Amino acid sequence: MIAAVDIGGTKIAVGLVDDDGRVLSRAECSTDVERGYTEALARTERMLRALIIAAGVELTGIGIGSTGPVDPFTGEIGDVNFFPAWRGQNPVADLSRIFGVLVAMENDADAAALAEAAWGAGKNKKHLIYVTLGTGIGAGIVLHGKLYRGVDGAHPEIGHHVIDASGPPCLCGFHGCWESLAAGPAMVSWVESVMPEDYPHRDHLTAKRVCELAREGDALARQAVEREARYLGLGLANLVTLFAPDAIVLGGSVMKSADLFLDGIRKTIRQCCRFVPYEKTDVTLASLGEDANLIGAARVWHHRFAQEGGNHA
Ligand SMILES: [Zn+2]
Repeated sequence: MIAAVDIGGTKIAVGLVDDDGRVLSRAECSTDVERGYTEALARTERMLRALIIAAGVELTGIGIGSTGPVDPFTGEIGDVNFFPAWRGQNPVADLSRIFGVLVAMENDADAAALAEAAWGAGKNKKHLIYVTLGTGIGAGIVLHGKLYRGVDGAHPEIGHHVIDASGPPCLCGFHGCWESLAAGPAMVSWVESVMPEDYPHRDHLTAKRVCELAREGDALARQAVEREARYLGLGLANLVTLFAPDAIVLGGSVMKSADLFLDGIRKTIRQCCRFVPYEKTDVTLASLGEDANLIGAARVWHHRFAQEGGNHA
């Protein structure tokens, strides 16, 4: 039995996950960044102990998926937007000491990629790229069942590959990154930049609301959806051209409206990827649902200790 810990900007979720990727129990609390890391760790410990006692199981290990950047091998939290003051804290070392088991951690997109590859939509795919499309764009690359890592274990930042160098400013400091053009907030920014004074839906626009308006036939929202599909498609087409993967698995909140985007995405891939067998790349939706992050966190443990040979790979 693996305990899974999913550390996000707004909440910390924990669960018990069996060897087939099934979540047997779960609990969550708000991250409460202001109360500090030590307090958040204590809350996480309490939630985990309660689950373990209720289930009457012995813990084999703990897997963590965290919003990044994190160092997967030292276990240290990096310069994370949501909790800058937690930099240098080490949940891997801390949970390992508290529970006396082996602990492994990855960036949450990598964790979800590993879970989809092992237990989800990417099962039996050799070369898989998982992309999560929400308030940002994250991705994980799994080749032959193993996570692709860059130099010194670096996590590639696919959301920041440049689609249009004359595009909008990105939070990374550059312009026209994929994320700045195709993440949920980009859709809202575009509508806000072109909407007329008397646009009836000016207030409280969100990506979800834009999708709803498009379904209701609102012309501007439909244009926004078309534009979104185009930019999603361009970024994904780049991945198809660069990697010629077996599968691209799409998750994240924007993909809750996938039916609005998939035709446009596939059309762009057909137009852009003529020199690779793009028709063999299965562009599909993530299949692990709401528990994907917990399942991913548990998979991090299996991947690290069964496939990579430990915390010093
Ligand atoms: Zn960027």
